[in-house]
Amino acid sequence: MSDPTQGERVAGTGNVAAPLLRVENLVKHVPIKGGLLGRTVDKVHAVDGVSFTLNAGETLGVVGESGCGKSTTGRCILRLIEPTSGEVWFEGKNVTAMAPAALRAMARDMQIIFQDPYASLNPRMTVGAIIGEALTIHQLAKTPREYTERIVGLLETVGLSGDHLQRYPHEFSGGQRQRIGIARALAVSPKLIVCDEAVSALDVSIQAQVINLLEDLQAQHHLTYIFIAHDLSVVEHISDRVAVMYLGRIVEIARAQDLYTRPQHPYTEALLSAVPIPDPRVKRKRVLLQGDVPSPIHPPSGCHFHTRCPIAQPQCSVESPVLKPVGDAGAAGSHWVACHFRG
Ligand code: SF4
Repeated sequence: MSDPTQGERVAGTGNVAAPLLRVENLVKHVPIKGGLLGRTVDKVHAVDGVSFTLNAGETLGVVGESGCGKSTTGRCILRLIEPTSGEVWFEGKNVTAMAPAALRAMARDMQIIFQDPYASLNPRMTVGAIIGEALTIHQLAKTPREYTERIVGLLETVGLSGDHLQRYPHEFSGGQRQRIGIARALAVSPKLIVCDEAVSALDVSIQAQVINLLEDLQAQHHLTYIFIAHDLSVVEHISDRVAVMYLGRIVEIARAQDLYTRPQHPYTEALLSAVPIPDPRVKRKRVLLQGDVPSPIHPPSGCHFHTRCPIAQPQCSVESPVLKPVGDAGAAGSHWVACHFRG
């Protein structure tokens, strides 16, 4: 790929394959109301110019600390939250310009799995009704028998059983509830699934099971994932590429192996240094960042990271770095970093 905002070059042809998803300069500013008249007095810079592409069948891991805008980016792509500006193109259609009816039809192709499986499942509905809701909305089952068969099939696909049809969410463990959430997302045969911290609330062993399940489903159904997490170790196994976000911006995006073995941005280095290594003989130098993440209401000028960056220079507080290719753009054009002194 020659540019994180453009399509993948088809080897040997010079042609560029159209990506499944293209996000262009996405911005989400959330107004803060105040005063007696409830006027807008400030705004949260939740997402501040995010661009990337995603090819069919690919998984993009998106990582960063709480408040970096990764979940807001995922929700803006699906228009669960209205972006302030920017464009989202899915299969060549401008999602950001779609009327409500077209958007409802598009919802079949783009689904989301939430972090808290218990909160996202209606406790008063049976598992069958939860999964079947989307089948009814999109009229995907012609007869009651087909309706039931499809739900049982979905339950078995995610490792549950048809016997669970009449049970309620509270009767399941956290991992099983997340499997129900996955079955619900799969019910409409989507092409893209945003996994919004989908395994973050689960125990480590259950995390691995759910990630394995998502990988199997991807292979079977040619699914495309945006896999959001706050921990680099969680996205390592599942991601083809990884984007690192800091205060609403992508600061580095690369193929997973490149990012984990040759991180360029000081923030990525700090995140990676906190990832435990299973081999006790290998010691990794811990990079400790000073202070907390600054408020996204008044993000620092220039490079948002300059207040915590161990190699910041005076230029950093004035000039905002843009994403630029690392090394030779022709050979290593899939690796991009936003730093004045790296890459
Ligand atoms: Fe650090 Fe400056 Fe690079 Fe930002 S631009 S990451 S502050 S060195």
